[in-house]
Amino acid sequence: MTGFGDVTQRLAGNSYTVDEESHIEIDQDLARKTGTGKLLVKVCPAHVYSENEDGTISVIFAACMECGTCLAVASPGSLKWHYPNGGFGIAFREG
Ligand code: SF4
Repeated sequence: MTGFGDVTQRLAGNSYTVDEESHIEIDQDLARKTGTGKLLVKVCPAHVYSENEDGTISVIFAACMECGTCLAVASPGSLKWHYPNGGFGIAFREG
């Protein structure tokens, strides 16, 4: 059985090539009205999203693992997400 320690060790082998352009965009008003913002904070395994005191959502796109979970929970129109431009994003090292 694999424990969290093993997973952390495996993830540590990944590397990121960060683009200047974000591949994630939030419609702040819609995210707040629909509750999507709070969901994004909860579900993202890479902690890309965080909620500010004023209710807006900050995005640290460089940490994205490209898992797609945020797309599954976002209400229509509240989140624009695409894979990072060619050559950028995460490179998984675990074989
Ligand atoms: Fe987080 Fe996955 Fe969405 Fe990237 S694709 S922001 S890691 S939930």
